[in-house]
Amino acid sequence: MGATPKPARPRGRHFFANPGPTNIPDSVLLATAHHTVDFNDPSFAEVYWGCVEGLKRVLRTTQHVFLYTGSGHAAWEASLVNLLSPGDAILILESGHFSQSWGRMAQEFGLELRTVPADWRRGVEMEAVRAALAADTAHAIKAVGVVHNETSTGLTTPVAAVRAALDATGHPALLLADTISSLGSLDFRMDEWGVDAAVGGSQKGLMLPTGLSFTGVSEKAMRAHAESRLPKHYFRWSAMLQRPLKSFLGTVPTSLFYGLQESLRLIEEEGLDKVLARHSRLAGAVRAAVQRWSGNDGPQLFCLDPSRYSDSVTAVLMPEGGDADALRRVALQRFNLSLGGGLGPLGGRVFRIGHLGDLNEPMILGTLATVELAMRVSGVPHRAGGVEAALDALAA
Ligand SMILES: *Cc1c(COP(=O)(O)O)cnc(C)c1O
Repeated sequence: MGATPKPARPRGRHFFANPGPTNIPDSVLLATAHHTVDFNDPSFAEVYWGCVEGLKRVLRTTQHVFLYTGSGHAAWEASLVNLLSPGDAILILESGHFSQSWGRMAQEFGLELRTVPADWRRGVEMEAVRAALAADTAHAIKAVGVVHNETSTGLTTPVAAVRAALDATGHPALLLADTISSLGSLDFRMDEWGVDAAVGGSQKGLMLPTGLSFTGVSEKAMRAHAESRLPKHYFRWSAMLQRPLKSFLGTVPTSLFYGLQESLRLIEEEGLDKVLARHSRLAGAVRAAVQRWSGNDGPQLFCLDPSRYSDSVTAVLMPEGGDADALRRVALQRFNLSLGGGLGPLGGRVFRIGHLGDLNEPMILGTLATVELAMRVSGVPHRAGGVEAALDALAA
């Protein structure tokens, strides 16, 4: 059999609408193209500490930040192994694929996994969280893990409400929050919300290449760290504190820090509040479009609770029998638009539009128009006029 010739890639700019990694601003791309420097050199230390201070401002913390060369999974792992001991119970609040994966990781480290189950389209009920904590009178649960923005379902879980549930029940567990797809795009307040470990990554709201992740760590968590017995080496915070940069046991990915310096500069030049408002505005336009499309038995918003809508990603559920991946293939192969796919059990049923990071109205409108075009040419039932609805939302 002869090889099938590869179809030519469509011309024009590759349009990238995945919820992570995300688009990298040109100035950040250029900044990462920095010549190699000695990471012990004082000129790099200045860049480095500026980045750490900037990250603390985005996390809204004055406490500790430890960084790792690795994607978000590395920071997930670091938050578990630095704080917990074999047999400890961790309570994971279910929200979708990412909460499940974090829970599975905890199990593989020999932790006892407890979950507050949830309908993925609605998220956990806070009453169920309170009940699970109140029932744990022996305080076997040492940590509560919440994914602030569940990237697979486009649904948020209110971290402040989880803090309130811990306080209301007088439960001493540590509060771990995954902010990988919320930092720099949704309101997150580590210190005000009493978060003990805030897990973040470079390639989503921070608009950087993949490969840098970090954990914001509270003083309470540092005390728990001193007692923790899970095996660790590269991620050991107390060993990092002995290093000149108070992080990184190995080589520091210097080029990513030149990029981070620039992305933090962009965020602060725009102003964090305005960055968040822009995400909320663009998200509203995406949801308006999807709600319009949902007529005529078209695709619909996966998240059913408006109070939990994510302003950084929208998951769209295909009509019964529809194939999300076939639609994504048309968008990519004919129109050069990349969309996120469904994760875990949502594979083929859901596609995801990322609206976080370096994004403006023309990019969102271009994406929505192209999704509508792809639906039209592939015969996916929908009510036309999604772009019109988005225009109305943006002009309002
Ligand atoms: C992307 C993501 C992760 C995983 O991060 P990687 O960088 O892919 O390892 C974890 N949690 C959430 C909420 C994410 O969006």
